[in-house]
Order: sequence, then structure tokens, then C-alpha cells
Amino acid sequence: MEEYSPTIFYVKGVHNIIANILSRVPQQDAPVPEIIETCFLMETENFPLAFAIIAQAQAYDKKLQETLNQFPMEYKQCIHCAQLIIYFKNKIFIPVELWSRLIEWYHEQLLHPGVLRLIESMKQHFHWKTMAKDITNFTKTCKECQIFEQQ
Ligand SMILES: [Zn+2]
Repeated sequence: MEEYSPTIFYVKGVHNIIANILSRVPQQDAPVPEIIETCFLMETENFPLAFAIIAQAQAYDKKLQETLNQFPMEYKQCIHCAQLIIYFKNKIFIPVELWSRLIEWYHEQLLHPGVLRLIESMKQHFHWKTMAKDITNFTKTCKECQIFEQQ
């Protein structure tokens, strides 16, 4: 480096117009995914669905990929931990293959919360169409939840 004696000078961000323009040219054809805060559950150590698992299941969900293009206003894509995650109305969209894993985990974490509390908790972060029905059916198979429900 020394023999070329480079002159290094600092260009303040506001004056560094050329770099800004080059790095901020919007891509017309691709929606730019935004980065949003991860929800606390995803950071829980034993949470069963890593972003990579969700992203892969979403990518293989043919119907989701189709509707994604049909209703661009309702779906949104965000990058989490380098994974492109699809949201439906600001909730993480969960493909069918992951439903039971997620319900079982929540059900255990929340210590047999019963139908309504389980639905409310999961609805805060996740979406799939038949979630309430699936949670209701799952809870029916749990003896402990049945006892709580009757109280
Ligand atoms: Zn239970």
C-alpha cells in the first residue's frame, strides 16, 4: 500500500451522492422485502419452527405461491435471519405440514390453555385459514384441557 501512497479521504454520507444513487436504484420487477422485528417466540430456544423451516415449507406450498401473486396487498415478504418469510396480514403464514407441530408446541408451552387462550396466543403471530378449527379439534383430544374447559 505504502508505495502507491493512496490518499484516503472520508466522504460524509450526505455528500456521497453517487454511491447513494447506485445502491438505491429500486428494482422494478421484484418487491423489496422489508426487515421486521422477530417475535419473541421465535427466539425461544426450543421453538420448533426455525425461520428456515417455515421459509422452506412456504416455498413448497404451491397454493400459497399462487395466491401470493393474486393478492399482493394482503401478503408481505420479509427477511428474517436471511430467510424470506411470507406474511398474511402481518402474521406469519403457516403451511399445512407445520400446523400440528406448532399447535402441540404452544399447547405444551402454555400448559394446557384451553381452546380460546390457545387460539388467541397463536393468532398474535401466525395465520392459516382453519387455525381456530384445528386448535379446537386438537384441544378436544387432550384430557387435561377438557377438565379445565368444564370448570
Ligand atoms: Zn391440554
